Parts: sequence; C-alpha cells; structure tokens
Amino acid sequence: MTNAYHGIIFDIDGVLEFHGRAYPGAAETLEWLRQRGVAIRLLSNSTLKSRQSAAERLQQKGLKVYAEEVITASYATAEYLREIRPGSSWIMLDGAGLKEFAEFPQNEADPEIIVVGDNRSCFDFDTLNKALRLLKKGARLIGMTAELIDYSMGDWELNVGSWVQMLERASGVQATYIGKPAPYGFELALRSMGLPRDRVLMVGDQLGTDIKGANAVGMRSALVRTGEYELRPRTEQAQPDYVIDSVTDLKKILG
Ligand SMILES: [Mg+2]
Repeated sequence: MTNAYHGIIFDIDGVLEFHGRAYPGAAETLEWLRQRGVAIRLLSNSTLKSRQSAAERLQQKGLKVYAEEVITASYATAEYLREIRPGSSWIMLDGAGLKEFAEFPQNEADPEIIVVGDNRSCFDFDTLNKALRLLKKGARLIGMTAELIDYSMGDWELNVGSWVQMLERASGVQATYIGKPAPYGFELALRSMGLPRDRVLMVGDQLGTDIKGANAVGMRSALVRTGEYELRPRTEQAQPDYVIDSVTDLKKILG
C-alpha cells in the first residue's frame, strides 16, 4: 500500500476537536502536513455552521484552518442547489449555516424543493405538517445529512436525518441526501483539491459516515479512535485502511 498521500480530508468533530476543545497535537499535525505540502480539507456533517463560522471556531481553538478548506453539509447542499437551480426553495435550517443559502429566495408557501437541515426548536407540528402537505403536492425533499442522532453537544440529540426520514415515511417522497456518507461532499472535496482519489486519505471517527462514505467513492480511510468512536455501533459495513489512536498518528502513516 502506498503512503504517498497528497491530500487529507478530515472530519472535524471527534477528530480535530471534541466538546469545544481541540485535541492535543491536532494543531501541530495540521502544521506538519502543511509544511509537507499536503492539501487539507475539512468535511463536516454540521449544518448549523457555515464554512466561515466553522473555520473561525477552529481558529479560536488554535487550529490554523481556512474557510475555503471547509465543507460543511450546509455549504455542500448550497453547492448542490447551485447545480440543480430550483425555481423556489424552502430552507429549514437554523444557525450560521443559513448564510450559505442567502442567494436562494425562500418560498415557504409553494416551494419546488424543501431542504432540511438542523432547524432545532423550529421543528414543530405546524412546520413539519406544512412540509408534509407540500411534499404531497409534489415538492422535492433534500436532507442535508442522513444522520439520525448526534453527540457533539455532550449528550444525544435528534439529528437532521430523523426529521427527514419521518417526512419521507409520512409522505412517501424519497429524499436526496447530501452529507456523509453520501458521495456529494466527498466529490466536492476531491474536485476542489484537484488530486486523484487514490492520493487522498479520509480521516474520521465514525464508520457509518466517514469511512463508509470514503469507501463508496473509492478513497482510502483512517478511523480515529477518538470522538464518537466508542459511542457508535460497530455493525456498519465499512472497512478503514488504518485504525489510529489520534490524528497525531497520521505522521506514522505519511512517514
Ligand atoms: Mg466525527
């Protein structure tokens, strides 16, 4: 197996930081990679963060990261909308991630597509029921991620996929998913690096999203035993090429 990786795609939460703190050695590892000319991308299933706000939060924790290197699920979904150019859309999302959709006029009354991100406490009966009726009338459904639950805030929370799946089951409309493990964000990251996929390594703490998604697009992957590694079931059909205890072990893989 070659170790000539020219690019690394990092998951953020549970890999570079966890529960508000950067992992020891994460900043040094990024610096070490930069000095060697390794291209860096960060691929996150966060929808609440824009690429700008995600980069700023990491910078505050001492990690040198540029907004142009970050692909959040909200940014990736906005890129997808720029490709498919919907006539009208309803973006169900809270937080800075909403800024990624500034160019798309909101039409909650009669949208061509309904785009679901983390809408937090705005997910209530009236809102979800309105979405159900619009889907029944023919609107398309897009889920920013398929993840059902999340532990990044320090306890389990319902994640985007739970709401999207409920709408899918109730309406009979199948959603298009953008975030990991779907291929869209991985392909976006690869394209922006301009590197062949066999020269890029995905590094993540979750088999079901990071590793499974990387496998599906033909990239090699390293599973890190930090973050949510211990919290997730091992039943997912995904096979990492490396298993490491911390991002600092990337130095061993790259030599
Ligand atoms: Mg993670």
